[in-house]
Amino acid sequence: MFGSKKVKKQDILDILETVRDPLTRKTIAELNWVNGLVVQDGNVLLTLEVDPAQGAQLEELRQETEKKIQSLKGIASVRVILTAQKEPSLPSAAPKEKFVPNQRPLAPQVKNIIAVASGKGGVGKSTIAVNIAVSLSKLGLKVGLLDADIYGPSVPMLLGLRHQKPSMEDDYIIPLEAHGLRVMSMGFMVEEEAAMIWRGPMIQSALQQMLRDVRWGELDVLVIDMPPGTGDAQLTIAQKVPLKGAVIVSTPQDMALLDTVKGVHMFQKVSVPILGVIENMSMFCCPNCGHSSSIFGEDGARQRAMEMNVDFLGAIPLDPALRRSADEGKPIVNDAQHSLTLVFQEIALSIQKRLDA
Ligand code: ADP
Repeated sequence: MFGSKKVKKQDILDILETVRDPLTRKTIAELNWVNGLVVQDGNVLLTLEVDPAQGAQLEELRQETEKKIQSLKGIASVRVILTAQKEPSLPSAAPKEKFVPNQRPLAPQVKNIIAVASGKGGVGKSTIAVNIAVSLSKLGLKVGLLDADIYGPSVPMLLGLRHQKPSMEDDYIIPLEAHGLRVMSMGFMVEEEAAMIWRGPMIQSALQQMLRDVRWGELDVLVIDMPPGTGDAQLTIAQKVPLKGAVIVSTPQDMALLDTVKGVHMFQKVSVPILGVIENMSMFCCPNCGHSSSIFGEDGARQRAMEMNVDFLGAIPLDPALRRSADEGKPIVNDAQHSLTLVFQEIALSIQKRLDA
């Protein structure tokens, strides 16, 4: 159908010798921008790591690269994605509205997009997002999971999808499937080890592209694992993505709770309803004696939720089994016997009810 020639990676790399950065006049190959390249059955997925300060000016280069690759014999589809991992070399006055790769609608067949967010990193947001997503799918819903935690995409590990790459079809990225979910993560596109520092416009652009150019198909719920924090990048996502609601994950420590307040306010500021707050690592259950102790104090998140007039969805204890299951890529809620499965199931039910309402 696409001619008998089979496209090789080298063919693509040769093309990159011919596309020049408008600023430096150096080629993409000379600039060493290639971060990821997947060539599969004539489908090409190319990730270029560029200077964030230049992001907005590079849309033409991105399109030119796509066109040139498309003109090769044997190409079925091409998707070129710009990412940014370096510190910006210019002050952050970059345009925020430009740099939109195309005007496809954002995830048109998805009924509800919800965000799982936290005021800071390391509170277990991704672990909880994954287990909520799987629990929602166990309720019979069609569920997708979009890992937008671009600073440290952990969903590939949490779902046992490390080192896997999505395929392409008709110019769309096909999400991977695991544990009943359709899954997409920036971690599939870029080197895992890279410590990524993105600025707002780049995150927003990458996220919009993952909503536009990924063939999510019909979904009842798409869960977005947000980047941690309440900075510009998160605020822009909250503004630009049509969110039905947000779930805020917090640990009981006071500091985290203050961050939680900021998280709640951020979504409220842009009129995204808060579906509720989840307290993670709320107590420690000793695996030997079964005794549970509230190391960080009791009910802090529940009280803070009440003060903020938002719902409290549930408390997840600090449980070594949850960490182990995360490391093994097997969500704990697949274990019907585990006590946490029921806790997550109840949280998923509450979320479903709020979405239906
Ligand atoms: P975040 O997305 O907020 O950065 P992660 O979901 O990556 O946090 O979790 C950070 C670490 O804490 C991971 O190693 C994870 O397995 C572990 N973890 C999260 N929640 C729990 C919990 N309730 N009990 C034990 N370990 C947990």
